[in-house]
Amino acid sequence: MVCQYLEDTFELYLLGALSRDDSASVESHLGTGCATCREQLRDAGLTVYLLCQPAKPARLNPKQKSHLFHRLREK
Ligand SMILES: [Zn+2]
Repeated sequence: MVCQYLEDTFELYLLGALSRDDSASVESHLGTGCATCREQLRDAGLTVYLLCQPAKPARLNPKQKSHLFHRLREK
């Protein structure tokens, strides 16, 4: 049950958004060597990494652009 509670907190933990007490709980639990949570922490790390990447603006090629404008005019 403890692990399910922690599962939702890893992203917040990595972003430093947890309270000091909650961060201490996470660190304490990770210190026990729980393999499940270590794996979830790795996944959360990837999620946080991807969320922090700057978004690239979408670029349509001229054919796609023309198709899109054509569809918009149909509405
Ligand atoms: Zn755990």
